[in-house]
Amino acid sequence: MEENNEKKLTELSQLGEFGLIDRITKDFEIKNDSTIFGVGDDAAVVSQRECELLITTDLLIEGIHFDLTYTPLKHLGYKAVAVNLSDVYAMNGTPKQITVSIGLSSRFSLEAIEELYAGIKLACNRYGVDLIGGDTSSSQKGLIISVTALGEAKKEDIVYRHGARENDLICVSGDLGGAFIGLQLLEREKLVFMGNPKVQPKFEERDYVLERQLKPEARGDVIAELKKLGVKPTAMIDISDGLSSELLHICERSQIGCQVYEERLPIDVQTIEASEEMNYDPTICAMNGGEDYELLFTVSIADFEKVKGNKLFSIIGHITAYGSGANLISRDGTSVPIIAQGWNSFAQ
Ligand code: ADP
Ligand code: MG
Repeated sequence: MEENNEKKLTELSQLGEFGLIDRITKDFEIKNDSTIFGVGDDAAVVSQRECELLITTDLLIEGIHFDLTYTPLKHLGYKAVAVNLSDVYAMNGTPKQITVSIGLSSRFSLEAIEELYAGIKLACNRYGVDLIGGDTSSSQKGLIISVTALGEAKKEDIVYRHGARENDLICVSGDLGGAFIGLQLLEREKLVFMGNPKVQPKFEERDYVLERQLKPEARGDVIAELKKLGVKPTAMIDISDGLSSELLHICERSQIGCQVYEERLPIDVQTIEASEEMNYDPTICAMNGGEDYELLFTVSIADFEKVKGNKLFSIIGHITAYGSGANLISRDGTSVPIIAQGWNSFAQ
């Protein structure tokens, strides 16, 4: 919940746009050779090597994508970068540069924006990417953040959504449903807090799911592991809207069907406990809860020996023929069609 800050805050109007840009960008160091020139001219300069260039953008709007009553600005900055880099990894690429554009209403102080950029910087350092530019504008209401990531991959290494083939194994990294249940927990405590601000939020033993929601990581480690194993996925996507929805994307793009097994879905014990406490079915959280930013990928059955028993990911099913649909085999053996119930930005 928002802190009661006694410190005197600096209004953005005192600094002006250029003063602000200078303050928020001055501490960033360039880490990549391909970044020839970053912030400070009309355009950044990035050198193109023999690789393909990957480009991806996300737009985050206060009240739609995040709620500042329970999201610390530093976490928001970190997450805005991490979710973008996740898209670069999902192409089997390496992120190198980002641009960050922000729209700010007058309620934000310099100190608040510095917090946001502290999170952005943490993510840049963690993932080895350079902040090379952006744009700054005022907004009538609320905070708007748009991050664009640039990445690279050799042409032959790029993995699309459309490459899955019949009999391929379906794998998912990490565990699922935690970010969704973390969000439900935060929303519940927000309602309690609004009813009675003296009540302290109940978050005991829920650190993992809260972190899944507030500080997701992009799975560059999984990409590195697959390279080490000598496995190139046949198709890949990152899980932003929920496993169901992403499986359907792969099925549609690859013109195939799929079968996944409920008993194989990786779900953390904290996710199960928190789901049960709040009357959610953990399987539904894992299938339809969004924002886990894990990687969903398919590999050829010929790679089974290389991928089996890996700590970073689980094999949850296999690809079936086109026309057989997308199905979840439940614990009792019944086959349930998978439908997209993931988070949809137009369905509010
Ligand atoms: P222009 O008027 O040519 O668009 P700006 O004055 O907006 O240039 O930006 C000056 C420099 O600061 C540029 O290098 C731009 O990319 C960078 N920049 C502007 N806003 C941001 C921001 N919010 N975060 C990072 N870099 C920024
Ligand atoms: Mg500009």
